Amino acid sequence: MAVNEIIQLPDSIADKIAAGEVIERPYNIVKELLENSVDAYAVRITIEIEDGGLSLIKVTDNGKGILPEDLPLTIQRYATSKIRHFEDIYSIKTFGFRGEALAAISSVCDFSIASRREPFDGYILIKNFNSEPIIKPSNIPKGTIVEVKNLFSKIPVRKKFLKSSSSEFKEIIKFIKSFAAINYKIDISCTKDGIKVFESLKKDSMLERVMDIFGETACFPINYSDGNISIDAVLGRPDNQKFRKDYIIISVNNRIVKDYSITQAILQAYSRLIPENRFPLAFINIQISDDTLDVNIHPTKTTVRFMQPQQIFNVVYNSIKNSLNNLKLETKDAISIDDFPIRDFNEEQYKPVFDITNYAEINDNKIEEPVTEYNTSNEFTVVGQLFKTVILCEKGDELYFIDQHIAHERVLYELYTTGEKLPPSFVLFEPILLTLELDEIEFLDKNRLILRKFGFEFELFSKDSIKITAIPSSIMQKDIENEIKKLIAELMENSNKNNDGLALTMSCRNAVKSGDYLTKFEMEELVRNLFKTSNPYTCPHGRPIIFKITKDFIYNKFQR
Ligand code: ADP
Ligand code: MG
Repeated sequence: MAVNEIIQLPDSIADKIAAGEVIERPYNIVKELLENSVDAYAVRITIEIEDGGLSLIKVTDNGKGILPEDLPLTIQRYATSKIRHFEDIYSIKTFGFRGEALAAISSVCDFSIASRREPFDGYILIKNFNSEPIIKPSNIPKGTIVEVKNLFSKIPVRKKFLKSSSSEFKEIIKFIKSFAAINYKIDISCTKDGIKVFESLKKDSMLERVMDIFGETACFPINYSDGNISIDAVLGRPDNQKFRKDYIIISVNNRIVKDYSITQAILQAYSRLIPENRFPLAFINIQISDDTLDVNIHPTKTTVRFMQPQQIFNVVYNSIKNSLNNLKLETKDAISIDDFPIRDFNEEQYKPVFDITNYAEINDNKIEEPVTEYNTSNEFTVVGQLFKTVILCEKGDELYFIDQHIAHERVLYELYTTGEKLPPSFVLFEPILLTLELDEIEFLDKNRLILRKFGFEFELFSKDSIKITAIPSSIMQKDIENEIKKLIAELMENSNKNNDGLALTMSCRNAVKSGDYLTKFEMEELVRNLFKTSNPYTCPHGRPIIFKITKDFIYNKFQR
């Protein structure tokens, strides 16, 4: 009889594989441990790092501690005190709930966790690499101490990927500072090879904390709340400009995350106030109810998925934009702000009134002129968005109506077919693994070049999965995995057509839709790009993109 070829991997191996997802570098461990301490309501946390975290990462907190009988469970996979039922993952208030961080960490180092939950005695669990855990009494005070020693020392392949200990430490301390800025009510300190290099005591506001940690003074706080979302942030004044994005720190419910869309909202709010190659300072903590958020999409929990990404974008954009406008008014006399080329525009206030009966009349009398020729878009001023569908532009004595979807479709179509420049694609910090059917994989592999043009970068990962490293930026705000699957299906359906068919499908798919709210910045960019195309007036399917009416016609209506 044949022996099985397939075996279930023992936990010891499965944990190490899983560990690869959670822990890439020492900083990931620091992040997990600090988040656990916050979940345990610690108000004091000390971090000790030796050799960039390679010889030692030790985190001591004064949180609620762990029940003696729970201690052995902390390093079991999917052992967590934070959820009981599947639905709980959608209403979680804490930093972690996957219950895999400590299991993963303890499988790649010499590990110990000591803890005491009052009024019980304290215990320590010691688990050296590849040996069974042992538990002993410990006289630790209330709280928890986790020690991670000799990280990856017996796993040379993993160790090879680490940088020098000083670069690893830089990464760690950068995270600790950001974390401390957001969690300003906690005393936090850090030593490096035995020497204290960072300490910040509890503060009453994020502003005080940011001033304390970063010595930043050219900043101001904002607080916004609309019942569903609240924002607590410290923003740099426009004259406080940075060379890198390092001072943009985003957190959601006190958890530091990376989020492309929120970053864009911040950058766009500042877009006319600081030069293009400079970045603002923005520490922003967004509080939203947990059932509109999925923090479980990635093992390291550095990216989150919002149910209403557009709403979050708008709230962040508008609250920053408004506070910057107010700042401008407040400091009318101070030269620094007014020196910046601010063009006032408040999308919310812009409520165009357009009578549909008039529109019909215009149509009947053929008063609108289809635009057939135009040289440059430079003189166009975007005045607003109508019905979340039509971009209104003013140019000289004319008002132009541009269909946002068709216009964008034209722009993308040309990008895809001329191939002069690749369309914007977004490189994922966390590649996405996607399991697919065999024929789907075959299709992707065969059309790799054209898909690259559409903004996709991927590698075959296994027989039935791909690793996606970049996606078209247009699907960034959506449910990415689902979106990609739908897209593949659609492309396959059209694959009997030529590349042109694929380009048409993709441009229609990736274009902004009717009903998408666009910021002024986005509209300007779209109009600019539209006029760079070979034919800005009709879409690849032949529909008109633009028409205009004249000032005379409008004034006539008012009997001016
Ligand atoms: P998760 O945080 O996703 O639940 P972890 O592996 O990070 O999973 O931790 C497992 C469990 O160990 C937690 O649910 C918590 O009950 C306990 N724990 C870990 N660290 C601490 C700490 N510093 N203080 C109190 N309890 C802790
Ligand atoms: Mg955790």
